[in-house]
Amino acid sequence: MQHEEILHRCFRCGYCKLPGNYTDINCPAYLSFRFETYSPGGRMWLLRAWLDKKIDAGSRFAEIMFSCATCGNCVEHCAFPEFRDRLLLAFIAGKEALLEAGCAPPAVRDYLTKMQLHGNAYARPMKKSGEWARDLDLPAYSDQEYLFFTDDAGTWDPRGQEIARSVATLLRQANVSFGVIPQGLCSDGNDVGAMGETALFEELAKKNIDVLSKFNVRKIITLSPHSFNALKNDYPALGGAYQVFHYTQVLAFAMSRLTFSENSDPVKIAFHDPCYLGRHNADYASGRMMLQAVPGINLVEMDRNRNDALCCGGGGGNFFTDLLSGGDDSSARVRVREAADAGARILAVACPQCAVMLEDAVKVENLDQTLRVAEVSEIVMERVALTY
Ligand code: SF4
Ligand code: SF4
Repeated sequence: MQHEEILHRCFRCGYCKLPGNYTDINCPAYLSFRFETYSPGGRMWLLRAWLDKKIDAGSRFAEIMFSCATCGNCVEHCAFPEFRDRLLLAFIAGKEALLEAGCAPPAVRDYLTKMQLHGNAYARPMKKSGEWARDLDLPAYSDQEYLFFTDDAGTWDPRGQEIARSVATLLRQANVSFGVIPQGLCSDGNDVGAMGETALFEELAKKNIDVLSKFNVRKIITLSPHSFNALKNDYPALGGAYQVFHYTQVLAFAMSRLTFSENSDPVKIAFHDPCYLGRHNADYASGRMMLQAVPGINLVEMDRNRNDALCCGGGGGNFFTDLLSGGDDSSARVRVREAADAGARILAVACPQCAVMLEDAVKVENLDQTLRVAEVSEIVMERVALTY
């Protein structure tokens, strides 16, 4: 297994499951289950025991390994700086070894099968991948500056589609030059790669790269931080080198082109950092810049923010496989309680997966009378004076 040599050096100090001030539990898997084996250090020891043939690859072991949300908190906070580049890679390599051993939880197998057969997690025909845009009348990509790339959730999930439509509408309102490719692009594959299915990730990525080459795409705006991560960091090694931006990164610098309606009510908003924009790609500013540019918005911070943010629990494919479950201490439920404690009336998100995870949590926590989850472009659009 790749990165095997770091496993025996972990001494289970436990810093990796905490935020920077050590006051909370910040590993979503450990938070949900409270067994040491779910913590990053526990995973290291478990993997080592398996590789040393002291334990078998049973279903429980596989569930633990695949429950990692790849949030990157352990990478950020491991006590050994030299581990940081390889910790998550070791967990992903462990999942890859388990898949090779034929040992994957049924939900993971189902997810990967859909990806293999359909190129998306919703088992939908790819010829309908432009349906999310319906009546928006978006231009087909030709010579515009950017291609707008919607991820799996933005392309197929009903709530994700609303968000994709809102972002596209705001891009147009801000005079950003972009087009869409209505057919042929499949899932970016980020979460497939995070599950250790490297060959399938490469297959999906190469299919997308073929389409992107055909259209001579050079600059891409992604809807999802997961797509942003895959296209920016992983596609170049497979022959797909583009300038890649998350939509908040483009819109943060286009906010001055917008006119806002007067008399918007002041509102307290907390921003939830998506792991694949924040910890994985060190952008904690763009989403906040968008919100701060809107009159009447009072940005408040939750206790855990930026590199200490608590993940919504949807990463690593858990959005699709639900291996973290939705118990009392699921990170999505803890996160919305934290937003309410910060006095926020709106919890702003910049990822369709975070939106769905946290909206569900608001309902389960009975917070829907006092806290609303909304995606950043939706919040901005509610206050923009439309010019078209
Ligand atoms: S902080 Fe690093 S050394 Fe300590 S338990 Fe976590 S992975 Fe192991
Ligand atoms: S990446 Fe996140 S969920 Fe996975 S072990 Fe590290 S802290 Fe836990």
